[in-house]
Parts: sequence; C-alpha cells; structure tokens
Amino acid sequence: MSFKDLLKEKLDGKINIDLDKFPTGFQRIGDIIIINLDSSLYNYKKEIGDAILEIFKVKSVCNKFGGIKGEFREPQIEIIAGSDDTIVNHLENGIKYRFDIRKVMFAKGNLNERARYSKLIRDGEIVLDMFAGIGDFSLLIAKLSKSKKIYSIEINPVSFVFFEENIKLNNVNNIEAINGDNRKIIDDLVSKGIKADRVLMGYLPPPKEFLPWAFKIINKNGFLHYEDILIVGNEKAESDKIMKMISGIAKDYGFEVELFHLQDVKSYGPKKHHYVFDILVK
Ligand code: SAM
Repeated sequence: MSFKDLLKEKLDGKINIDLDKFPTGFQRIGDIIIINLDSSLYNYKKEIGDAILEIFKVKSVCNKFGGIKGEFREPQIEIIAGSDDTIVNHLENGIKYRFDIRKVMFAKGNLNERARYSKLIRDGEIVLDMFAGIGDFSLLIAKLSKSKKIYSIEINPVSFVFFEENIKLNNVNNIEAINGDNRKIIDDLVSKGIKADRVLMGYLPPPKEFLPWAFKIINKNGFLHYEDILIVGNEKAESDKIMKMISGIAKDYGFEVELFHLQDVKSYGPKKHHYVFDILVK
C-alpha cells in the first residue's frame, strides 16, 4: 500500500479534509520521518504526525515548511509528532553521519554524488573541500580513497561541531577540519605554501564569487568541481556560458580550463537540474 493510502486509511473519518492533499512521499533520515505538508493541511499537523508515528514506529515526525535558507544553508523543519530530539545517526555508503536535521542541511539526493567523488581521487592527492558541512564529501573521500590529505572548511559553528564529531565517529585521520570563511582560510593556507590537487565547491546557489579562491589554491592539472543549475533542454548552451565565465576567472590566475565531465546530480524543481562541472585546470 502506498504511503498516501496508508495515511488515508489511518485518518479517514477522523479529520474532515481533502485526503488527496496528503503527501505522496516522505524522507527517512535515521529514525526521523520528514514530510512536506500542503499548507491546507496545517491545522491537522498533529493528527497526521501521530498517524505517521504509529505507522512507522519512528522517534519523530517532522514537516519541511520552507526551503533551505541563508549562507549556512539551514533547513526550515518543525517537529509535528514525537520526540523533540532531532539529532539523527544516519549510515550511508558505510559512513556514519550524526547531525541535527533541524539545524543542518543534508541532501539525501546527493547520495550518488558523495560516492562518486571518492572514486575520482588519484592516489596521494591533496583535496580541499570549500563547503564541508558536516563532512558530507570529505568523510567519504578520507575513508574510501587514497588521498594524502583533505583540508575541509566550514563556516557554520553548529555544522562544524557535528563535522568534528563525525571525523571521530568514522576514525579518519587525514582530514584537517577548519572552522571559518573559506576565503580567509584559503588565503592563510596559500601564504603557508599549501596547494590542492582537487577543489570541491559543493554549494548552491552556484558559488560563483568563490571561484577566485579555488584558483588561488589549485595546482596545475588539478580538478575543480563546480555546482550549478541548468534548465532541462538547454544544458549545452548554458554550460558553455558557465564555462566561459569560469575560463575568464581562471585566466586571471594563469590557468586554462576544460570541461572534463558534466554530472547530472538531481532534479532541482520544474525543468531544472543540479549539475556538477568536473573541470580540468591546465
Ligand atoms: N558540500 C556538501 C554538499 O554539497 O552536500 C555540504 C554543503 S552545505 C549545502 C554548504 C555549506 O557551506 C554549509 O554548511 C554552509 O555553512 C557552508 N558555507 C557557506 N559559506 C561558507 C564560507 N564562506 N566558507 C565556508 N563554508 C561556508
């Protein structure tokens, strides 16, 4: 039986609303279920939350009432049933992630992207993760590749505390986690003579204004992973335009760039897809 039908069966006759407005799906992270409730159902949050709690026997049920917000990319999530404790332990690709789903963003849709990075790394690489979050990419790379060292920068102190905890939880020892603004941290690293063979720019909306810092620290023949949104059906023209913009910035730092691979990550709203540009820096 579908999620919607299960809910309908539980709540039919108990609340007087259009049952077709019930969510069709849900996301489960650790032992918490997150749904996206239609605003016409907000008066029945409690009943719906309790029904889901009963069906799945989870710790809490939460509702995502808005998009991801601000520089720290914070989610807008509220508890509608169950425990107030929204810290989850999530296992993915063999990596343990512990974080608070109300305070820190974690995109389940980026699962394959996280796994893909660890396979791209060449032995002995120095990697720099400009937007580390709770260690989404860095932990996998540390655990599953033969990288020499990973510098991972995260500005949000709340995410950073979970990141440090996750480093310990996964027993990795080649990540240097740094709390701060990646622009300042990269300037500091470069002044100490540190360079990277691969730079990850895992951030949306597209982190265009951060590109100069990626080029300040990257080595010749290194790879840059840049994220952007492309309109379905117009991918070629748009990606050409983005590469032209990146090429202009690269030139200021004495580099040329080549689009090595364009990776479709996930749908990002109507007719939009989230892409990663794998860029060879020459
Ligand atoms: N890279 C992971 C991914 O793509 O799944 C996690 C990315 S998370 C969406 C983006 C993170 O970048 C947030 O945790 C945010 O706090 C951090 N951030 C934003 N601006 C930053 C900056 N100037 N320096 C370092 N981190 C920054």
